[in-house]
Amino acid sequence: MTTVALLSNDALLLEQLQAAFAAHAPHLRVVLADDPAAAQAQVAACWYPQAGSLDRLPRLRLIHSVAAGVDHLSTDSSGPDVPVCRVVDPDHRRGMTEYVRWAVLHYHRDFDRVTAQQRENLWLRHPQRFAGKFKVGVMGLGSLGSAIAADLVAAGYSVRGWSRSPRHLKGVTCHHGDAEFSQFLNGLDLLVNLLPLTAATRGILNHHTFAKLAHGAAIVNCGRGQHVIIDDLQIALANGQLRGAVLDVFEHEPLPSDHPLWQMPGVVVTPHMASAASHDCIALQIAENTRRLLSGEALNNLVNRSLGY
Ligand code: NAP
Repeated sequence: MTTVALLSNDALLLEQLQAAFAAHAPHLRVVLADDPAAAQAQVAACWYPQAGSLDRLPRLRLIHSVAAGVDHLSTDSSGPDVPVCRVVDPDHRRGMTEYVRWAVLHYHRDFDRVTAQQRENLWLRHPQRFAGKFKVGVMGLGSLGSAIAADLVAAGYSVRGWSRSPRHLKGVTCHHGDAEFSQFLNGLDLLVNLLPLTAATRGILNHHTFAKLAHGAAIVNCGRGQHVIIDDLQIALANGQLRGAVLDVFEHEPLPSDHPLWQMPGVVVTPHMASAASHDCIALQIAENTRRLLSGEALNNLVNRSLGY
């Protein structure tokens, strides 16, 4: 029987994944890190595994993220040198497009302003701006970002995208690489981040980036908390360069209850809920990649470890 070790700091998630594996892959022996049988694991399914826990699996042949992102694995050269895969799922994409569509409408149709006005009993209409005049930029045009860009094009927005290598998406003005970053940002009304967290993207939502957007633009961060320089965000919100920020992800999660972001004017905090694959989908994809590993077939959704995503 093939053994899969579940490694995470999230006890509830571990329980939910164990149930999903029991339902969809009863042929796999699924164990937690502290089970002596973990020493037999050929596959590790991970979400923020404890430091060093992967190195304690001598028979490991595959590391599988249970999410789209892999930064939580610390995929550095000190980890076991085995393939890393992640979860890519159409329902997950759909969830992310719903979240971003809501956030874009929030600013485009001035719901941020009118909800603030309501607290002052203030009746004030803002001039309606048509979607085609509202410029939205999507950073990261991978599985999630490309679906978001396509959804926003279908909704009539003026959409730009930015990726590391050239991409061609219908209706999207695509830019790539550091050399085209300024051109991509220039005058955007709203910037959506769906980049993976890597050495190249850490801190990318900083004052240089904010300064290139239209005055009074908004940002939506669905990537990782470490993409944002919080002090720069606070200054940009205070001086009006940014009118608001929807933040779904944070350097430390859960966001501590005394963190200043909770009360920062213009900030909407959501609890890393933009989108996740279902537990059933995660179990099925890991079971399928385990089958592929054992039969020597190509793995699905393989991560490029040197690029970090
Ligand atoms: P993906 O398919 O790997 O796509 C990543 C995109 O980012 C690609 O277009 C890539 O460019 C681009 N990119 C990477 N490094 C870059 C750089 N240095 N400069 C410019 N572009 C760069 O990833 P995904 O599945 O769409 O997921 C993206 C991220 O979303 C995840 O890593 C995770 O952090 C986050 N996420 C958040 C939630 C949430 O609930 N908030 C849920 C899922 C995922 P190329 O096209 O040239 O490769």
